[in-house]
Parts: sequence; C-alpha cells; structure tokens
Amino acid sequence: MTEPQSTEQDPCDYDVVISGAGLAGCAAAILLARRGARVALLERRSDPAAYKRLCTHSLTANAYPVLDELGLVPALEEAGAVRNEARWYTRWGWIVPRAAPGGPGLPYAYNVRRSVLDPLIRSRAAATPGVELLPGHRVTALVREAGRTAGVRASTPRGEREIRARLVVGADGRESAVAAAAPVRGRSHENGRFGYLAHFRGLPLPGGLGQTWFLEPDMAYAFPNDDGVTVLAVLPDKKRLPAFRADLEGSFLAFVRALPDAPPVDSAERVSKITGTVDYPLRSRVAAAPGLALIGDAALTGDPLWGVGCGWALQSAHWLAEEAGPALAGRGGLDRSLARYARRHRRRLAGHQWLAADFARSRPFNPLERLMFSAAARDEALARHMHLFASRLIGPLRFLSPAAVARASRVNLRHRAAARAGRGTKGAA
Ligand SMILES: Cc1cc2nc3c(=O)[nH]c(=O)nc-3n(C[C@H](O)[C@H](O)[C@H](O)COP(=O)(O)OP(=O)(O)OC[C@H]3O[C@@H](n4cnc5c(N)ncnc54)[C@H](O)[C@@H]3O)c2cc1C
Repeated sequence: MTEPQSTEQDPCDYDVVISGAGLAGCAAAILLARRGARVALLERRSDPAAYKRLCTHSLTANAYPVLDELGLVPALEEAGAVRNEARWYTRWGWIVPRAAPGGPGLPYAYNVRRSVLDPLIRSRAAATPGVELLPGHRVTALVREAGRTAGVRASTPRGEREIRARLVVGADGRESAVAAAAPVRGRSHENGRFGYLAHFRGLPLPGGLGQTWFLEPDMAYAFPNDDGVTVLAVLPDKKRLPAFRADLEGSFLAFVRALPDAPPVDSAERVSKITGTVDYPLRSRVAAAPGLALIGDAALTGDPLWGVGCGWALQSAHWLAEEAGPALAGRGGLDRSLARYARRHRRRLAGHQWLAADFARSRPFNPLERLMFSAAARDEALARHMHLFASRLIGPLRFLSPAAVARASRVNLRHRAAARAGRGTKGAA
C-alpha cells in the first residue's frame, strides 16, 4: 500500500488528529508535537478544568518515566501529589513492600486527584508548540478513504466539521467514538464486581500508606492524596448489589467499618458524593489499523480494582509517539509503524489483561495466587516482587517465573515447618 506523505499540496489539515484531551490524548499530543507533528487535540468538553470523576487516581510506578518525560513531576510534587507506597491485606496478614536494606528505594508514582492532574496535563498540551487544543469538539465519525482512516467528523460550537489528518488517534476513553467506528477487532470480559468511591478529609492511614484489602472476592482500597484528601473505594461482588444500593451511604460505611484494621471513617468528613459504577466490563481492542491508533482506555479498559488505567494511558501514548513519531517526520512508513505500535501494545498489556479478566469473575484466589500472596505476606523479597508487578514494572511471566514460584514454595514450606515445630514445643511444655 502507498502511504500518504506530507507534501506542499498535502490535503491534510494536520499530521495527527486526536479525539479526547484526557491523560492519553494530552500525553500523545505533547510527545508527537515534540517530534515535529502538527497536532489537533479535540475535546468534547468546553471547560479547560474538566476532569474524570470516576477514578481513584493512584498512578502506578510504570507511569513515572512518562510523567518525567512530559515534565510534569515538579508540578505534581508542588501540587502535593503523594508518592504512592502501599500495603495489601490478605487472609495471611498484610503484605508490606519495603526497600531492600542498602538497596534502591521502591519505585513509585503518585496519588493525585484528577481535578489537579487533568487540567495540569491539558494546559501543558495546549502550551506545547505544534498542538492546537480544540475544546467543545466532539468526534462523531471517521473519514475513511481507500481502506484507511483519513480524518474525523466532529460536532463543534460552529456546527459540523471535517478534519483530515495522516493519523487519527482515539484517546476518547472506554466509550470511544473512534474505536466504535474503527475497523478493529475487540473483546469484552464481564466484571463480577461493582464499585463505589468517595473522598474524605481527616482520615489518616497507618504510616501514610495506601491500603488495599483482598477479601476474596470483595475488595476495598484507601489512598492518601494531595491536599489531605483520602479516597476510599469498595468493590464488592455483584451479588451484594441490590442490598447495597437500597441504602448506599449506610452500606458504604458499614463495608468500610467491617474491614480488617478499618480506617476511622466515622471520625472523618466526607467531602464528595459517593459515586460509582455497577457494570464495568473489561475491554481490549487491536490498537491500530491503517491511519488509526487507539491509546488509553479506548485501546484497553482494565478492571478499576488494579488501578492501572492512568499508567497505561500515559504509557500507550508514549509507545505510540516512539513508534509513529519518526514516520510522521518522514522517516519510514506510517502504517508499518502503527502495526509495530499495535504489536507492542499487545505484547506489553495482553497478559496483564488476561489475568485481570480472570480475577474479574469475582472469585476467591486460585491456588497459584494463594501461593504467591501468602508467601509475600511472609517474605520481604516476595513483597517487593509483588510491588513490581502491582506497579506494572514487570509482567505476568516474570511475576510467576519458575524462580519466583520456587521461592514462594520454599517460604511456605519453611513457614509450615516452623508452625509445626511451634505446636510441638507447646505440646511438650
Ligand atoms: C472507579 C474507577 C476507579 C479507577 N481508579 C484508577 C486508579 O486508581 N488508577 C488508575 O491508574 N486508573 C484508574 N481508573 C482507570 C482510569 O480512570 C482510566 O484508565 C483513565 O482515565 C484512562 O485515561 P484515558 O485518557 O484513556 O481516558 P479518559 O480519562 O476517559 O479521557 C478521555 C477524554 O476523551 C474525551 N472524549 C470522550 N469522547 C469524546 C469524543 N467523542 N470526542 C472528543 N472527546 C471525547 C473525554 O471528555 C475525556 O476528556 C479507574 C477507573 C474507574 C472506573
């Protein structure tokens, strides 16, 4: 296939048109413009301070290098974003990852409210030379020509508009209009849990650490954020939904109070509505086609309980810029670079999504999870290993590598032997 090149008579309005000025869209706009592309960044909302409300905004450590490259780290620190250390409750006790003695600190990114993060990244995108932010522009359809995507149609404050570009990027979230119209295959997995969240002040957490409760199958988490706000989220099994909804506030508070080592929710002040989602299927799509790429939730919507979507929104924008940036600057074929991006996206995220889709069936831990989580509650090296996986700095294959599984087995055998010896000593006394 002959790919269009940028020329004097280029019929394209821009090199790239991006649908959605959320995390993925803004990151892609900045990174592609820095590589020389002329970018139109379309956002359906008009308010520059608009932000995503349904999110607990804990950014996993895999996001840090992208935040750094975008130049956002100093502004986030300044805004009071909290470096996110966490501990996880399991029936075997708390897993508390700590840096190895004399070793490097644990990798981190930030807990920061979307009311801070979204306007910050959007203003940086708008200020980037080469990016034109077009608020109030809702993408409604794709322009298709000769088997490839050649632009978008958008409804704007001045009526319908067609915008042509060499590359169309769908960064418009889980209900992506671009993905819905794109000629790409996708898969959906049912989510067996529902979720509600709320913001509180005056809700200290032990050691200032984020907390996640694995209650098999229910889940909960609490994250300290900027400006002294703590986010509490509960993700129970869908079987509990009718009773839960009958008294939302009462059920939410009762759920939190019943958590092991429960945070002191009754002495805290709730400063937001209790908001949530009762049906949130996981979705994945092939991330590119000729003239088109999907990033962020438009390409892959994960299970909110793992708190991974923001990190992957930023990372996928970065992968796209690395793959397609040179081709947009005239070095190499654009569609070949998009195929490389789609392969990279799949290689990096498909395994994570496969595990998440299985866990989203709202089941107790399977035998392998029981082995890894119980051993991590007993062994510092495995707790660190789990931190790397939860931070999405290693994939499922490394998380469940033969060496890690063998170590977990040894830890548990030693634990059982020590418990037996303890019982024997007591019996003899
Ligand atoms: C309950 C819950 C909790 C979560 N907690 C976490 C967490 O703790 N950590 C984490 O990393 N992730 C979390 N996530 C996931 C995270 O919110 C998403 O993965 C992330 O926001 C995806 O970013 P995005 O840029 O792809 O999409 P979005 O943030 O959804 O941005 C999409 C943008 O596109 C715009 N748009 C939509 N349609 C159009 C259109 N047709 N034309 C133009 N613009 C359009 C929207 O207005 C928006 O600005 C959570 C999700 C949920 C539901």
